Amino acid sequence: MTESKAIKRRIKVFESINVGDLAKRMGIKANEVIAKLMGLGVMATLNQSLDLDTATLVAADFGYEVEQAMTEELGIEALQQEEKGGERHPRFPVVTVMGHVDHGKTSILDAIRRTDVAEGEAGGITQHIGAYHVQAPSGDITFVDTPGHAAFTEMRSRGAKVTDIVVLVVAADDGVMNQTKEAIAHAKAAEVPIVVAINKIDKDNADPARVIRELGDFGLIPEDWGGDTIFCETSAKKGLGIEELLENVQLQAEVLELTADSNRKAKGTVIEAQLHKGRGSVATVLVQEGTLRTGEYFIAGQYSGKVRSLINDRGELVDEAGPSLPVEVQGLSGVPQAGDEFLVVTDEKMAKSVSDVRQLKVRESELASVSKVSLDNLFEKMAEQEMKELRVILRSDVQGTLQAFGQAASKLSTDVIRVRVLHEGTGAVTENDIHLASASDAIIIGFNVRPAVKVKELAEQEHVDIRTYDVIYHALEDIEKAMVGMLEPEYVERVIGTAEVRDTFSVPKIGTIAGCFIIDGKIERNAGIRVLRDSVVIFTGVIDSLRRFKDDVKEVATGYECGIGVENYNDIKIGDTLEAFLMDEVEATL
Ligand code: GDP
Ligand code: MG
Repeated sequence: MTESKAIKRRIKVFESINVGDLAKRMGIKANEVIAKLMGLGVMATLNQSLDLDTATLVAADFGYEVEQAMTEELGIEALQQEEKGGERHPRFPVVTVMGHVDHGKTSILDAIRRTDVAEGEAGGITQHIGAYHVQAPSGDITFVDTPGHAAFTEMRSRGAKVTDIVVLVVAADDGVMNQTKEAIAHAKAAEVPIVVAINKIDKDNADPARVIRELGDFGLIPEDWGGDTIFCETSAKKGLGIEELLENVQLQAEVLELTADSNRKAKGTVIEAQLHKGRGSVATVLVQEGTLRTGEYFIAGQYSGKVRSLINDRGELVDEAGPSLPVEVQGLSGVPQAGDEFLVVTDEKMAKSVSDVRQLKVRESELASVSKVSLDNLFEKMAEQEMKELRVILRSDVQGTLQAFGQAASKLSTDVIRVRVLHEGTGAVTENDIHLASASDAIIIGFNVRPAVKVKELAEQEHVDIRTYDVIYHALEDIEKAMVGMLEPEYVERVIGTAEVRDTFSVPKIGTIAGCFIIDGKIERNAGIRVLRDSVVIFTGVIDSLRRFKDDVKEVATGYECGIGVENYNDIKIGDTLEAFLMDEVEATL
């Protein structure tokens, strides 16, 4: 009997729970929870989400125990730890090809496929599964074939890192264009090295030197010129320089010393997923650690399953897939998202319960809005995440503004926080900007440009802060304010004395005066005051009057009696405790 009661009084919470839900689970009115929170000094609304600690505190007052419902997730963590420490062997690189439209990305990928020694045997039939594996004479490579850097960055915003190296394709007859710049920004933000392919060198008006010069402005400098970026000249059309490009990708990979443990349980990332009419949910998974085998239980994002079949990029059924290999998996309970983690677990029970937990969490987090960095919360974010730079993406109607802002912004930088321009461009704010901002926790500043409705919606959905200004000066002012705001002094509360209410007097026009006895410390006239009843804070405010006999006094020490009036509070009762406190300023310095 007592046991069942004890269990009943327990609430499972994942990471957070909102006020309304907490009240519902305890079977009490939300107002009671809100009042309790106020007593704790937290001003909360019905939909506000409470973290585990706060929920625990509040629930305890109503006789409930909050339990973190993450046991399976913790089990996974333990499993991961266990799987660590195995023998690591070199693995081949995973590459993404990026660049401006029509500069030859697709053509280069096609030309690379033609170098595949295994291609002939399979008769050249390839399946589109979002990635493919090439066995070139210089070594194996996996290409992630998701179109554009939006996909690349979207995956990264989900916490996935699949790409080891970016091949940046720049047409020799066209040079650095908008999407070239974007690709560079995205690769740099992800800290992925770039190998440059100067393509279309067969063309009469090809000018590779110009491409090199233009890329130099972005810090991509060839080794011959003292930099560390590998440049290759290619003609996808004529099949020139392709083998050299692949060799250079391998060189870059060697520098990265890529390794994996193929003996552990598989772990990877979902690259693509969809619902097939006949085959159900299928996902292309890039295996990053371990070996994935048919029949194994797994979790993919919020879904789970058992590997029914594995199909490689040539459409062949395979029994297993090791590190750096893409493979299409059948047997999922739902369609995961690109960028979701894929993880093999010990058994079905674990797979299912983790997926249940995650689905609940997804629902919870859809309710509790995630807060990305914005000028408004810059300070908290810095404290919370030890943020050291404010990343901005700039959009302007004219090029001149961008440069001027860039220079002025870098002057704003201090030792504590640096203003870093991740990407800049002329024209309206794009969806790509939002993806980049979201993945990199950046804010977007626009001068004389406004985002389109669709872009605005995406920004809201991704919680990206877009600020638009007419003049640079105002933008700088706002940033500076946010940085100064962040330096505003912090206050720490210090209790200086406690008094017991032994009598109360009602004074006309003034209100209730508490006849007190100081039991600890002292009460100061200018202190903050808190009214406690049965150890629960019922009011917090300031002292209105402090008197000994008929005289106003500045302070009263332990062992003395005095009269205390509390501003805006007349409901003091005999037996209440009054606690006086001061707020000490803790200096923040740059
Ligand atoms: P993507 O938009 O970057 O994928 O570019 P594509 O691969 O679709 O190529 C765009 C156009 O450029 C096509 O008409 C290709 O035939 C052409 N092209 C691609 N590579 C070369 C090249 O090396 N030389 C020449 N002359 N044309 C090329
Ligand atoms: Mg293409």
